[in-house]
Amino acid sequence: MKRNKLKLLFILLGFFCLAAGYPGTWREKKSEHFIVYFTQDEKFAQDVLDAAEKDYRRIAYDLGYARYSEFWTWDKRVKIYIFADRDAFLKATGQPSWSEGMADYTNKEIVSYAWGKGFVESLLPHEIAHLVFRDFVGFKGYIPLWLDEGVAQWEEEAKRKEIKNLIQRYYDNDNLLLVSDIMKLNIEHLKGKQGVLIRATKTKDGKDGVLFLSANNLIEIYYLQSVSLIGYLIEKFGSQSFSAFCRELRDGKSVEEALKTAYPLHIRSIQEFETGWRKYLKAGA
Ligand SMILES: [Zn+2]
Repeated sequence: MKRNKLKLLFILLGFFCLAAGYPGTWREKKSEHFIVYFTQDEKFAQDVLDAAEKDYRRIAYDLGYARYSEFWTWDKRVKIYIFADRDAFLKATGQPSWSEGMADYTNKEIVSYAWGKGFVESLLPHEIAHLVFRDFVGFKGYIPLWLDEGVAQWEEEAKRKEIKNLIQRYYDNDNLLLVSDIMKLNIEHLKGKQGVLIRATKTKDGKDGVLFLSANNLIEIYYLQSVSLIGYLIEKFGSQSFSAFCRELRDGKSVEEALKTAYPLHIRSIQEFETGWRKYLKAGA
């Protein structure tokens, strides 16, 4: 059950581009870093605005971004569009029928409809994290999907415990992918693929092993492991080192080089990243 829920979440939070601005009669509410556009439920719009400010501060602090916060004030505020219902949202955006919302990095917009708790607890922190992270690493360097989605999922604070429990189960059962594999996997390529995929792994005892997975299994582990790797970096070494890591990425370094520079004593290779992360899981993080 939970797995299915999680999988659904990964699908729902897909990222799509869209044109800025939507026709129609919008009312608005403003705060320091956000403008919420809504048509009907004013109370919900206010809840979203309050939650967005709180999320923004927490996420910016967590990623070591706090002192750059003026980037999001005044005319650079993030716009959040809340359509009255799902039909209106789908019609205006042309999104596929399963979509619950989307974020646009370039225009700094989050677009969804008033669907309650999931909006405030999941979609909002997830998309705000994408936007903060993107502001921080810029558009020049290559940001792999595991890193982008890892950060966004990690900042869905309400889900963190559930995700940690799940990854722990995968660790206990020797079902995790190699970090080096995560770094080079092309998930888009795997979607809808039939048959059994074979991947190398390491067991808890450090022995070489093999995993037999369906494409869906593999994608699920990939997403889970992505959150866990980010959790490891932030919980173990703190926000300052994470922001140093982001700066290296922004300056065009590869992920491996950026890790080595930001964590010179602890991550001198992908191998060491793997070993350290596994120790963190072993300690029950
Ligand atoms: Zn995402």
